[in-house]
Amino acid sequence: MSDSTGASTSDEPTSVGVVGAGITGLALTHYLAERGLDVMTFESGSEPGGIVRSSQIDGRVLEYGPQRARLVPEIEALVDELDLRDELVVADDDLPLYVYADGRLREVPRSLSTFFQTDLLSWRGKCRLLVEPLTAPGQPDERAASLFARKFGLEAYRNVIEPLFGGLYGSDPADMPAEHSLSRLLALEKRKGSLLRPAVDRLIRGGETPPPISFDSGLQALPEALYEAHRLYVHLNTTVSSIETDGDGYALSAGGRTVTVDEVVVTSTASGAATILESLDGPTVAPLRELNYNSLVLVFLEADAQTEGFGYQVRRDEALSTRGVTFNDSLFDRDGIYTVYLGGTSDPGAVDRSEEELATLARQEFQTVMGVDADVVEITRLPEVIPAFDTSWAALETVSLPDEITLAGNYTSRLGFPGRFRQAKRIADRLAAES
Ligand SMILES: Cc1cc2nc3c(=O)[nH]c(=O)nc-3n(C[C@H](O)[C@H](O)[C@H](O)COP(=O)(O)OP(=O)(O)OC[C@H]3O[C@@H](n4cnc5c(N)ncnc54)[C@H](O)[C@@H]3O)c2cc1C
Repeated sequence: MSDSTGASTSDEPTSVGVVGAGITGLALTHYLAERGLDVMTFESGSEPGGIVRSSQIDGRVLEYGPQRARLVPEIEALVDELDLRDELVVADDDLPLYVYADGRLREVPRSLSTFFQTDLLSWRGKCRLLVEPLTAPGQPDERAASLFARKFGLEAYRNVIEPLFGGLYGSDPADMPAEHSLSRLLALEKRKGSLLRPAVDRLIRGGETPPPISFDSGLQALPEALYEAHRLYVHLNTTVSSIETDGDGYALSAGGRTVTVDEVVVTSTASGAATILESLDGPTVAPLRELNYNSLVLVFLEADAQTEGFGYQVRRDEALSTRGVTFNDSLFDRDGIYTVYLGGTSDPGAVDRSEEELATLARQEFQTVMGVDADVVEITRLPEVIPAFDTSWAALETVSLPDEITLAGNYTSRLGFPGRFRQAKRIADRLAAES
């Protein structure tokens, strides 16, 4: 690595410039440093974590982004390495998860006993779902909605799969091509010959899904601890404005200075990556701007609801704007806090509504579903925050970049924490092997 002072460092290990200190950039920083590579990470914000942001209001923890992570092996290893074990909060994975359908909450079948007991599916719907192994395999060019409905039946799709799967992205699965949104599922089906069989195997064997977790002060404790461990390499308040070729390497303009590195990993949003990379001669990056992101609004409510559970998702045809609600109260014992999600493709205008409208909507709809009044604690708007994985993802196939520049982050593979850590590890392994 060399900097604007011109100091040459040609006999040093491969140098990597990482753009962004969200969870992907920080995990990557950690794994690169662990493998002995020379890493420099630039973050435009004043705090580490990107989308992962927690705060305390009157002693109550609010999560402005993700509400929970899963204690996958990568995260568990970090909890110990970063000395976070005492702060770890583990939720009970047996808590019920609900879908609001036909005027009330109904339990999502997550075990064999709830499969038989739940009234979210009729007996006919349950029998239809069991026929899945006899259906034709999913196709990459099929939309997620038609794939799920064809394989599991329309009722299971409408009542269970759409609210959970579509709710995750704020998207309509009818607009989500399987090749972009379900690539892992398609690969699983190819390996196992069915989607239902591996799910049932998992239910019978039990105990394989790592539990949901957070930390006493919220999820941001994890990126903060990663930042503390690597603060020599991570530069906050430092925006990378452009990347250009510089001899055999790449020059990053970052916070008023230039740093030359051998490899670059960009973990910003797709359009952010296009802006940084557009000054490069040769590569095609403009299509990155075509990828759609959905906007969300989070309304934090305080209520005395007394219902145990993870929370609920709302079936798409219900006359509610709420897409889902997390019961932070019963998940992590967060004193009466409930997080309401509004927006996504079913209500794209939510992010532009006034505070008053959003507060009224969230409170009234919470009252309709839960039967209790709630007070609004805070409202946060998240414009274009979540990759839609819709038909616009075809544009990704036309992006071309030199081998030394890697795009990472949630729009390039899986959205959740486990996917973020696994992608970071894969990239670090590859760069270490090449160095
Ligand atoms: C509302 C919401 C709820 C979610 N819930 C869950 C959940 O419950 N469980 C779960 O596992 N996952 C959840 N996810 C998904 C998960 O939180 C995200 O996919 C993940 O945190 C994204 O991390 P990232 O590092 O890839 O991106 P980001 O967090 O967006 O980080 C990118 C970083 O790059 C920085 N940056 C951008 N441009 C530049 C530049 N030019 N120079 C320097 N820095 C730059 C940004 O400031 C940002 O900090 C949720 C996501 C959202 C939005």
